Amino acid sequence: MIDLHVHSVYSDGTDTPAELVKKAEKRGLTALALTDHDTVGGIEPLLDAASGSVVEAVPGIELSAECERGTMHVLGYFVDHTCRALLEKIETVRAGRDERNTEILKKLNKLGYVLMWSDVEKHAGCDVVGRPHFAEALVERGHVKSRKAAFDLLLGKGRPAYVERYRYTARECIELIHAAGGISVLAHPATIHLPDDQLKGVVKGLKACGLGGIEAYYAEHKPENIEKFCGWAKDFDLICTGGTDYHGDNSPDLKLGSGFGQLRVPDEALENLKAAKQLLVQS
Ligand code: AMP
Ligand code: FE
Ligand code: FE
Ligand code: ZN
Repeated sequence: MIDLHVHSVYSDGTDTPAELVKKAEKRGLTALALTDHDTVGGIEPLLDAASGSVVEAVPGIELSAECERGTMHVLGYFVDHTCRALLEKIETVRAGRDERNTEILKKLNKLGYVLMWSDVEKHAGCDVVGRPHFAEALVERGHVKSRKAAFDLLLGKGRPAYVERYRYTARECIELIHAAGGISVLAHPATIHLPDDQLKGVVKGLKACGLGGIEAYYAEHKPENIEKFCGWAKDFDLICTGGTDYHGDNSPDLKLGSGFGQLRVPDEALENLKAAKQLLVQS
């Protein structure tokens, strides 16, 4: 069993990279990719923790791209986490997040929710601070009942405390990952929230920009979705990848590797990513 989409305390997960490796060992995984939002801070600790482990560690990242309606995320696998261009671009995203976090706090306070930056910071891990940490702070302060309610009522796109932030376009994300020696993959395509014919057009366009794969296997995808996206992968010569989007204790029903119990990401996904990386290195 492999899992190619996992978050740690470096973004909005609750496990350290070392804890993730331990859990992966316990669950019998053979490989684990760390794909934290907008950071490669956890890669070095992951590689350290996995050296000498039966679990193979795959360095990754998840970038948020501009998207009109829904959410578009681009995963990067086998990126060089020391690549200067990558680190610089990430810094720009970080600055955008800082500005946005200040604005979200202001909006919440204006709406009458008593909340301080220290409340939010307390729930953040060790690197990227995002909306999930606001959600936890709101729950702790008793303003909302659950993280989900925090997003539904306040923090979700279109809700009163939502604030846009600086994002690269999907093309820029793909080019950035490529420049850092990585293979780009469109994450959970369904969250782009487009009808199939339009979504397929988007995937085709991204392939033309250099997209390497599509995340067909995903904890929340129904079997027919998996089949559909695997079909598109064939149509556009993309690698079919997959993972759980594990965030730790934030979603207790979701397990590393198997998601809600049914997910099985084929080992071939990782083999194909490695082959693509090899081609990139040789080119
Ligand atoms: P940010 O990157 O700060 O905009 O936060 C996005 C993250 O918030 C996503 O990666 C999810 O982990 C989480 N998230 C987004 N929407 C929801 C939701 N409706 N309920 C719970 N978590 C969410
Ligand atoms: Fe997340
Ligand atoms: Fe995502
Ligand atoms: Zn994710």
